[in-house]
Amino acid sequence: MRILITNDDGIYSPGIAALAKIASRFGHVTVIAPDVEQSSMGHAVTHSRPLSLKKSPINFEDIEAFRVNGTPADCVALGTHLYATTDIVLSGINMGPNLGNSMWHSGTLAGAKQAVLLGIRGIALSTPVGKTEPDFDVLAPYVEKTLGILFENKELGLYNVNFPQQPKGIQWTRQSVRLYDGKIVPGVDPMGRKHYWFTVSPLEPAEQGTDRWAVENDYVSITPLRLDLTDEQQLRKVQQRQPEFS
Ligand code: MN
Repeated sequence: MRILITNDDGIYSPGIAALAKIASRFGHVTVIAPDVEQSSMGHAVTHSRPLSLKKSPINFEDIEAFRVNGTPADCVALGTHLYATTDIVLSGINMGPNLGNSMWHSGTLAGAKQAVLLGIRGIALSTPVGKTEPDFDVLAPYVEKTLGILFENKELGLYNVNFPQQPKGIQWTRQSVRLYDGKIVPGVDPMGRKHYWFTVSPLEPAEQGTDRWAVENDYVSITPLRLDLTDEQQLRKVQQRQPEFS
């Protein structure tokens, strides 16, 4: 199995080093990741300048690794072009959760999503960062088990995985879509000028069976996702009301 790994925290993140090490037990791994952090870039692609690929052995021992001056989606597009026999793309392990509505701006998920857009299986992996750094030695057995479960399925699919800090099991979940407030917090910079921080925090508690609930209750959350965003119910409703307009 040929595995391509990217992330949105950049090539020097400990999360991508941990993932590459664990994934190499399943197949041949190549790492192609952004040269600087690209968190919350969503599915941005670089179209107005060329991309460059530079060898980046730091962090990866015997695994071939490259850094790219682009986004996670760029890295996957470029990586699957250069390594056309790629079977699966992994993105992460992100230092920070990607749960519920945060999937909309996640660069980590976009890396996996770009793979699926190109007809290759994609898995995004994330873990919350609290006051302490994630302990990837604690997470390693659960990362390995989760990859084993998802690698068994050879169908094209997109999966979003989130690891709690101290997992006690693994659950299949759906995306929590309870409302979030995209809150702007004003502040003042050292020169006395006004500035604004964008923060996202949930307004309502998570419902059981969702990704947020699982991680809050110390379960690894695996959510199968789809690219088709069509609201089927709403589509039927508006079509029944008036099938077309002249
Ligand atoms: Mn990130």
